[in-house]
Amino acid sequence: MTTSKTTVEIHNAYPLAPLTSWKVGGLAQWYAAPKSLAALEECLTWAERSGEPVTLIGAGSNLLISDRGLTGLVICTRHLRGIEFDLAKGQVTVAAGEPVARLALQVATKGWSGLEWAVGIPGTLGGLVVMNGGAQGGCASDRIINVQTISLGGIAETLLPEELGFAYRTSILQAGDRIVTAATLQLNTGFDPQVITATTNDFLRFRHRMQPYHLPSCGSVFRNPHPHAAARLIEDTGLKGYRIGDAQVSELHANFIVNCGHASSTDIIKLIRHVQTQVAQKWAINLETEVKMLGEF
Ligand SMILES: Cc1cc2nc3c(=O)[nH]c(=O)nc-3n(C[C@H](O)[C@H](O)[C@H](O)COP(=O)(O)OP(=O)(O)OC[C@H]3O[C@@H](n4cnc5c(N)ncnc54)[C@H](O)[C@@H]3O)c2cc1C
Repeated sequence: MTTSKTTVEIHNAYPLAPLTSWKVGGLAQWYAAPKSLAALEECLTWAERSGEPVTLIGAGSNLLISDRGLTGLVICTRHLRGIEFDLAKGQVTVAAGEPVARLALQVATKGWSGLEWAVGIPGTLGGLVVMNGGAQGGCASDRIINVQTISLGGIAETLLPEELGFAYRTSILQAGDRIVTAATLQLNTGFDPQVITATTNDFLRFRHRMQPYHLPSCGSVFRNPHPHAAARLIEDTGLKGYRIGDAQVSELHANFIVNCGHASSTDIIKLIRHVQTQVAQKWAINLETEVKMLGEF
């Protein structure tokens, strides 16, 4: 059902599972996917007038959404698109919904270095900034000049990296009270496009060899508890391949939980808790989740 008279459609009882990389989760009470900033502002006005809480999602590649679904309005930013290059400064301003992997390949073909590591990340630019996503020693905050945001109350603000509390896979944006609409990144220019593209493709091949890209997952489920690697701890606890329902600790990379077919969020959360308990018993280390949980479990 679509109830809105505005230019953006606000859907009732909208299925969220297809919008997540794990392919699990229930319905959004209300759902909108604005394609412009004006449409996004309409969504926020609608939520404020209706008294509905707002939940943000990008490409859903780092989310575990409850089987019971989400109340309020879910706003998906993956359709906010646009990339602008500033050739003189070597900067690129990227809208929140742009796919990170495609951006990495696009800048590589210009001979711009700095995002080679990002090619294996199946998220949007917005999600990458919020998560301070990274790989192969690089991360988003290394490249961010500023982040354009709009508060849930509709106030636009451009924030500098030092205002965003960036640290390992975290930022203050995870509080969920601001929407990332775009970010400007600084890259290193003047390289041979073929060399940067080859390095980027090498990273992608490496990722496909070492990680289970062939099955639905959310990437790394747990944060690495410094100085340990979560995958090593889980593997050394004997949990590789351990399964609850159709949720399985990947045989290829123990920090991935894969959906082998018809896993539910309940299967996945049970498996997450089992892994946490077993690792804590064996090593006295608490594994914290990197994946963001939405809804009631
Ligand atoms: C196969 C695979 C490999 C992966 N590899 C990596 C990796 O190497 N490194 C890494 O860091 N991650 C990795 N991930 C996890 C994931 O891709 C990243 O965390 C990614 O940055 C999430 O982006 P997203 O658009 O999917 O965000 P979502 O998962 O949709 O959301 C993540 C968080 O950001 C918030 N959010 C999303 N968009 C906005 C917005 N516009 N404004 C405000 N808040 C927003 C959400 O509310 C949520 O809290 C991997 C995932 C998969 C499935």
